[in-house]
Amino acid sequence: MSMDRRDFLKIIGLSTVAGGIGGAGLLELRKGTAEASSAPHGRNKGSGSTLAMVIDVRKLESPDQYKRCIDACHKAHNVPDFGNPKDEIKWIWTDDFEHTFPGAGHEYVAEEVEKKQFLLLCNQCEKPACVRVCPTQATFKRASDGIVMMDYHRCIGCRFCMAACPFGARSFNWRDPRTAPNLQNPANLNPKFPTRMKGVVEKCNFCAERLREGLEPACVEACKDTKAIVFGNLDDPKSEVREMLRTHYTIQRKPELGTNPRLFYVIGG
Ligand code: SF4
Ligand code: SF4
Ligand code: SF4
Repeated sequence: MSMDRRDFLKIIGLSTVAGGIGGAGLLELRKGTAEASSAPHGRNKGSGSTLAMVIDVRKLESPDQYKRCIDACHKAHNVPDFGNPKDEIKWIWTDDFEHTFPGAGHEYVAEEVEKKQFLLLCNQCEKPACVRVCPTQATFKRASDGIVMMDYHRCIGCRFCMAACPFGARSFNWRDPRTAPNLQNPANLNPKFPTRMKGVVEKCNFCAERLREGLEPACVEACKDTKAIVFGNLDDPKSEVREMLRTHYTIQRKPELGTNPRLFYVIGG
C-alpha cells in the first residue's frame, strides 16, 4: 500500500498543514520561512537548526561508491528510471570538476581533481532561487531546519523553478513516473514515500522523511563506511559539519550567485 499525502506530510513534519493546504497552518509555515530567509548569516532565526552537508570527495574513490549513494537515494524516493536521458529524473548524480565548479579551475589544477567525479544534489540553498520564482509556493523553505521542500500537489508544472535553479537540481516528470520500468517491480518501491505524477517537478529533499524517523539521509547511510558525507546542524558549533568546516578548506558551488548553498565540498589537501 502506498503512502497518501496526509501521511507523508505528517512524517515530514507538516502535519499542521495537512488538513488544509493553503490554510492558516501553511501561512504560519511561510511566515517562518520568510523569517528564516532573512535571518542573519542565513541561520533559521528562532528555530532549531540549519541542516547542511559536507562531502569529502577525496574519500569517494570508486564509481561503485557513487553508485551506492545514488541508488540508495533513488530507491528510497521511488525515483523513476525510463532508461533514457530525455526522461531522466535525478535527485543525486555525478559530474566532473569543470561542470561542478565552473570558473574555479585554471590550467594547473591537480590532475586528480580535474579527473574526479563529484556527487551533486540540491544545494538546499539559504536563499533558494527556486522558491523565489514559484508562483504557487509548491516549493518552499522549511522554517524549522532550512530544507527546501516540494509539495507535489501544489506544483502546476510551470518549471519556473527549473529555469531559476543555477544547479540543475530539479527534474520535470514529462511522463507518468508510475509507469517507469523500475517502479513496476513492487520490490523496488518504497511504500513509505509517495510516487509522483506526470507534470510535476521533483528534487532532493535532504531526506526530510527519514530525518523525522531519526534516520540519516539515505546517501549518507549508503556510504557510511567511507565517511565521505557528513550531515548535521550548521547552527551547532559542536556538530560534525561544523567540525569539518572548521578543520578543512571547503568550497560551495557557484558562490558568486548568492544562493549560499548548504552543501560544502572538500576537494583536496
Ligand atoms: S539548488 Fe536549486 S533547487 Fe536546490 S535550493 Fe538551490 S536553487 Fe533551489
Ligand atoms: S514547476 Fe512547480 S515547484 Fe516549480 S515553480 Fe512551477 S509550481 Fe513551483
Ligand atoms: S539527502 Fe536524501 S534526498 Fe538528498 S540526495 Fe541524499 S539521499 Fe537523496
